[in-house]
Amino acid sequence: MSFFKRVGRQVEKFKQTATETAKKDVVYQCQACDARINAQRDQCPECEAQTIVLTAGEE
Ligand SMILES: [Zn+2]
Repeated sequence: MSFFKRVGRQVEKFKQTATETAKKDVVYQCQACDARINAQRDQCPECEAQTIVLTAGEE
């Protein structure tokens, strides 16, 4: 029982770490509507413009 509890906690921690890393390292932004995207795409999910640029390091 306690084994599953421990594993569950580790998975939660990993999820948080992965999310924080993704936020810091890579941010893509649509130049047409300024939507922010965490993954690289050819098309903006908001306005479907193909103007996604990498804005890593920007706060
Ligand atoms: Zn857009």
